Amino acid sequence: MNLYRGCTHNCVYCDGRAERYYVDGEFGKDVSVKVNAIEVLRHELDPKRKRSPLKPGYIMVGGGVGDSYQPIEETYQLTRKTLLLLSERKLPVHILTKSTLVKRDVDILKKINQRNKAIVSFSFSSTDEVISRLFEPGVPSPQKRLETISFLKENNIATGLFLLPVIPFVTDDLEMMEKTIQDAKNVGVDFIIFGGMTIKEGKQKEYFLNILRRYDPKLEIKYQMIYPGNKWGGAIPQYYNRIHLLFNTLMKKYNIPKRIPPEFFKDILNKNDLVVVILEHLDYLLKLEGKKSPFGYAAHTISQIHKPLSTLLNDLLAIKGIGKTTGKIIREILLTGTSSYYEKLLKG
Ligand code: SF4
Repeated sequence: MNLYRGCTHNCVYCDGRAERYYVDGEFGKDVSVKVNAIEVLRHELDPKRKRSPLKPGYIMVGGGVGDSYQPIEETYQLTRKTLLLLSERKLPVHILTKSTLVKRDVDILKKINQRNKAIVSFSFSSTDEVISRLFEPGVPSPQKRLETISFLKENNIATGLFLLPVIPFVTDDLEMMEKTIQDAKNVGVDFIIFGGMTIKEGKQKEYFLNILRRYDPKLEIKYQMIYPGNKWGGAIPQYYNRIHLLFNTLMKKYNIPKRIPPEFFKDILNKNDLVVVILEHLDYLLKLEGKKSPFGYAAHTISQIHKPLSTLLNDLLAIKGIGKTTGKIIREILLTGTSSYYEKLLKG
């Protein structure tokens, strides 16, 4: 849910700056406020309205083009009002932010968490203070974000760290990534989600390279080598493979889940979705090990099935993409809400 468009956190690598997202004004300075968001949401969630019921799942409060806890939220309180409404409607919530302002809403988050579940995730490119000041100029310091994670943990709220994006040749080396993962472990995060950076041609690239030159002008040539300038701004696969391998090795050392663990969603999702999510996670975890996986395709075919899987238990092998091993895993998930193979890969 994007409650704002534009973001004064002004991260240098933010792709909200790219032309394809059509954010009005000067990114980093101007923010559009969806002043009627609560009214629209209240109408959408009205239980008296005739509509197909929402599929059970977390409502994600965050945004690709604006942090829901950026400074202007203190004035408009759209995120707070949204949480109050989601709490009234008894919906689980996952917040993704870089701001310590989320502490203000701990009262509502505790209420949501008692009845359903609330997760608060924070994104970091690293926990290095100097780099953060340069690349995330409008964001509370890494130390302040880590303290906020501790505060939420003390209030029994689950927390995640999105190590996303690591900045190529700036925060993606062994030492820097290990320090960030160690810091996350010390404050007790429940999981870490990882990802590399994209740079789209145009405004985002120009803005980023300008600041990068200030940090280290020699790096530009390295960026030219790994970013060929494709539509999505992705780096070459060899680069992503290298950082994912490094991430996997470190996560094994510190024994932290690399996806949101099933205890947070197994009682929320319907059974078909639970199977799809766990198979997708398995697919990710195997690929992280550099292995091939049949589970991504299986997840896709199951996502197209509208009958409850529990009624198809004897016909699982007739479904496209489901062999004996996948069938066994699906049965275990339907019976226990998780898979022992998956749990082993998640931390190992
Ligand atoms: S906090 Fe998120 S949305 Fe805001 S500028 Fe940074 S990366 Fe972009």
